[in-house]
Order: sequence, then C-alpha cells, then structure tokens
Amino acid sequence: MKLCLLYGGKSAEHEVSLQTAKAVIGALDKNKFDIYPIYISKQGQWAEGSKITDTITDVAQLQLLNNNSNEGLSSTGEDQLSHKSTDMIPSSLQSGYDVVFPLLHGPNGEDGTIQGLLEVLNIPYVGNGVLASSAGMDKVTMKNLFAQAGLRQVKYVSYIRSVWEADRDTAYNEVEARFGYPCFVKPANLGSSVGISKCENREELVAAFEEAFRYDRKIIIEQGVTAREIEIGLLGNDEVSCSVAGEIVPKKAFYDYEAKYQDGSTELVIPADISEEQYAELREMAIAAYKELDCSGLARVDFFITEDGQVLINEVNTMPGFTPFSMFPLLWKHTGLPYAELIERLIDLGIERFEEKQ
Ligand code: ATP
Ligand code: MG
Ligand code: MG
Ligand code: MG
Repeated sequence: MKLCLLYGGKSAEHEVSLQTAKAVIGALDKNKFDIYPIYISKQGQWAEGSKITDTITDVAQLQLLNNNSNEGLSSTGEDQLSHKSTDMIPSSLQSGYDVVFPLLHGPNGEDGTIQGLLEVLNIPYVGNGVLASSAGMDKVTMKNLFAQAGLRQVKYVSYIRSVWEADRDTAYNEVEARFGYPCFVKPANLGSSVGISKCENREELVAAFEEAFRYDRKIIIEQGVTAREIEIGLLGNDEVSCSVAGEIVPKKAFYDYEAKYQDGSTELVIPADISEEQYAELREMAIAAYKELDCSGLARVDFFITEDGQVLINEVNTMPGFTPFSMFPLLWKHTGLPYAELIERLIDLGIERFEEKQ
C-alpha cells in the first residue's frame, strides 16, 4: 500500500506535527506500507520526498526533502513560490497514493481545509472529514453544537477582532458581568494550548485578549472551573468505540504548551480513578459529541469533572496529539490497542469511509 504522510504545516503546532510524523514512521510496518513523505513548511510550501525506508532519528531529516518538483525551495524552507498556490500541491497527490495520512494539527491541517482538498482529489485519507474537522477546530461553533446536543459545559462568550477594537471596555465589562474570574481566553481556532491565558483580574484579561488575537480573528472566553481533567479516546466511523478514561494532573496553573510538550511537568493517569457511573456518563457524552459533530476515524474528547462531581464537556480534538507519549495513543494502549495497531486501524477506517461513499 502506498501511503503518503503529510506533516509540518502552517499552524503554530508545526513542531508537534514533526514529532508525530517521526513516531508514526517508526511504527508503520515497512513490509506492508510504502511510505512517502510530503512536508509542508511553516510558510506553507509543499515538498515531496522519496520513499522512506529507515526509521527517522532526527526530525530535521523530515524537513530536508529533495524532489525536482520543489526547485523553489531553499534549505531553510523559505520559498519564492508561496503565493502561487497551484504550484504547491504535488501532482503525485492526484493519483500516486492509496491513502493519505494528514498528520497535521491546527488551522490548515485539522480544520477541514486539507480534508477538502483530499475530497476534491478523491483520495482516501485518515481521520475526520471536512465538517467534523472544521466544526471541531472552531471552539465557538463546537460549543454551540454541544449546546444543541444538550451537553453540559462551561459558560462562554466570543468576540471577533473588529468588534473588540471598536469598543474594548464593553467586551471586558461583558465578560466580568457574565461570569467574572477566573476565566480562560483562547483563540477560537487552535490547539496545544497555544495563545491561551488564565485570567484572575481585569489587567490579565486585557493582556489575554491581546495575546489570543495575535493568533486568530476570533476568540472565546470561558468561565474558569476548578476541576479534574479527564479525557477519552474515540475510534470508529458509524460505530464508535471508547477507550478507558485518562486523567491529566498538571503541576501548574493549567495544562499549557510547555507542560504538554516540553517540561514533562504533567502526569497522565490511565485509567483515571473515576466511578463506573462517571465513566458511563463520559462515554455517553463523548459519543453524543462525536455524532453531533459528525466525526469519523478518531477523536479525543476532553472533560472537566468539577469538585461537586459534575461532568462538563470541554472540547473534541479531531486530530489529537499522536506521539506514543500523547494521551490518545496511551489511552488506546491501555484499552488493548498498541500504537502500531492503532495506526493501522485508523488507516482502515479512512479507507472504509472512502469506499462507503463511492
Ligand atoms: P488541546 O487541543 O491540546 O487539548 P486546546 O488548545 O484546544 O488544547 P483547551 O483544551 O481548551 O485548549 O485548554 C487547554 C487547557 O487549559 C486545559 O487542558 C485546561 O488545563 C485549561 N482550561 C481550559 N479551559 C478551561 C476552563 N474553562 N476552566 C479551567 N481550565 C481550563
Ligand atoms: Mg483542543
Ligand atoms: Mg488540538
Ligand atoms: Mg484540550
């Protein structure tokens, strides 16, 4: 099977994607899969590489792809062709692969845009389709859909940049009147905690708005809760299976980017120490969210369990962190599906969905 791995990407989660690609290449059975890499630089330039036969030891190797089709690419990934988008898409994508695995996080990867391209090209691909990807990427749309499905969640409000710029104080006053402090300010379309701040007062709120608007034209502000953080993995197309639950135990104010990828300051407890009833409630809510967003393939659903035992849904991640040390693969490992088998299952699910549509 000719499998194309798409990784890197224009989003703030570029580095995370490289780590994932390295791990997936290591785990894929080279006798079963011919692996072809396509790297997307931070500038958005696409570069095709030749077949990968060895394990990758250094992620930098994943960025140095050579191919005649990217003459405009210098070794730093800077390019002269970045505005000519039709030159960027390798022609091999049109007919060269049996399946594409988009190992991309955040905007331009996890948000339905790549998925739309692959739909137009009529190639099977791993993971969620266009609608689930875009609905899951936008935290405001996602939470509106949770509300539609009757799922319990924190209070939230959202702003677009131009409205905030026109009258900033009204925005701050509104947040304080609706739920006050602590609150969380987040770019609407991102992940890995990039651009997220926890605020305890007006001064921090002002700084948090500025920060979040650096990443997106739309932001969401949520009521902060004191809660345990529990996550669950879902796998499947029309029929969905749930993993055991896992708990994140952050040793700082919240589970921020450094805690996720850099300083190892977070403990993952799998399976989470929750009651049978709570686990049943989590599964029920997770599946309801999966269906409401029309997910397929996979998702990691994140919850809060408050001090008084209430289960609140936080978010659905349609392309969760996927290194062997990330929550989603660990949840499945503990459920009896080791990393390499999980990857093959995802590939099968992508092909199944494609075939059902034909
Ligand atoms: P990822 O996709 O990597 O899970 P994300 O960028 O989509 O992350 P969230 O999961 O929404 O961001 O938030 C990141 C972290 O911030 C949470 O894991 C939690 O620690 C904290 N957090 C976010 N929202 C709240 C809230 N309303 N109350 C309390 N803590 C919160
Ligand atoms: Mg997320
Ligand atoms: Mg994410
Ligand atoms: Mg999360």
